[in-house]
Amino acid sequence: MARIVMKFGGTSMAGIERIRIVAERVKHEWEAGNEVAVVVSAMAGETDRLVNFCREASALYDPREYDVVVSSGEQITSGLLAITLQAIGVPARSWLGWQLPIRTSDGHGSARIEAIDTTALNASLADRQVAVIPGFQGMALGERVATLGRGGSDTSAVAMAAAMKADRCDIYTDVDGVYTTDPRIVPRARKLKRVTYEEMLELASVGAKVLQTRSVGLAMKEGVRVQVLSSFVEAGDDPEPGTLIVGEEEIDDMERQLITGVAYDKSEAKVTLAEVPDRPGAVAAIFGPLAEANINVDMIVQNIAHTTGSTDVTFTVPRAELPRALDVLDKARGDIGYSRLIHDPRVAKISVVGVGMRSHAGVAAQMFTTLGARGINILAITTSEIKVSVLIEEDYSELAVRVLHTAYGLDAEDDAA
Ligand code: ADP
Ligand code: ASP
Ligand code: MG
Repeated sequence: MARIVMKFGGTSMAGIERIRIVAERVKHEWEAGNEVAVVVSAMAGETDRLVNFCREASALYDPREYDVVVSSGEQITSGLLAITLQAIGVPARSWLGWQLPIRTSDGHGSARIEAIDTTALNASLADRQVAVIPGFQGMALGERVATLGRGGSDTSAVAMAAAMKADRCDIYTDVDGVYTTDPRIVPRARKLKRVTYEEMLELASVGAKVLQTRSVGLAMKEGVRVQVLSSFVEAGDDPEPGTLIVGEEEIDDMERQLITGVAYDKSEAKVTLAEVPDRPGAVAAIFGPLAEANINVDMIVQNIAHTTGSTDVTFTVPRAELPRALDVLDKARGDIGYSRLIHDPRVAKISVVGVGMRSHAGVAAQMFTTLGARGINILAITTSEIKVSVLIEEDYSELAVRVLHTAYGLDAEDDAA
């Protein structure tokens, strides 16, 4: 007998027919004698719809009420799955975030899970009842509903697995594992049998949304065994049907590649401040007010000073925050002293990730050469120990991902793979 958490994403929960398939999978694990907690997402598209209602109601919505609205998609699917399980003879009940409770920070809209009380849940599992838990939600200060940021059901699942001391956390989605890049963009992408926590963390943070970044960080910290699987494909006889996220020591040399994956992210926007005075404190005058407004800055490029004693500063902010960022910079114009504020949301960040970079030179050079040969201009660059990211024009993003995937030798042998 094992204790398992099974998480089903939006496509897997999109309609009663799909929920029936999910219920059968859960029943299979339950009949094998396992203790099962299921974490569910809202039906595909539902959270977008709810977010749009809030925006339509008021551009300056109260984040606490936003959370009341957008958390409701998961309430519906958790109830529906419990009903469907009961209908096929599996005792089940839903546990909303405030009922367990799952306590979170006060950061409405992207709250962090702080503690999960498993007392009631343990009693229910011991009774052979399946627990169905809506992902993405918890309870913040003042007993207000809070949500965990988009894609947050992955984090709910990993946090539940850690709190329950589960043996496994199986993340069922609409692809059968983590690939060398998004298989919807590059059909020749290869499925990875295993990927390290560190690489998955980096891949997720640069756009591979198959797992929410926070969920990977939490799994790494808590040592949760996470596996990514398809809810649409039968596992068959393969003992490792999806992708297992593992510690680096579990990957053998044969499996090691220089580059593990390529990712893209279209959620950032580029901002340039022209002719910023070239003096100490100038850059702080730009980024200080942005930080105070809680706007995350990602890539930064400062050009060499013009002969006139001024310089151009380019950086990226989340696209959704662009209007606020422009407002903050406009208000700070007197302090910063720039001549023009230029912005462009039509950019994409393309990244290559791999622990092999630590011991091999030339990864970045190969990236720049490959993009240059295709006439793709690089607008900004950032690197970490195991990642190189470039900012390019959005129109070239798919081409860039494809050519880099080929250049680093990641293409599958044939299209069927
Ligand atoms: P869910 O609703 O199940 O949480 P998501 O849409 O959040 O599913 O994540 C799954 C999607 O992630 C896939 O459909 C795929 O298009 C995308 N994706 C991006 N990068 C990768 C990758 N490297 N490997 C697998 N899937 C990826
Ligand atoms: N439903 C939420 C979202 O779409 C959470 C999730 O699915 O992980 O972001
Ligand atoms: Mg997701």
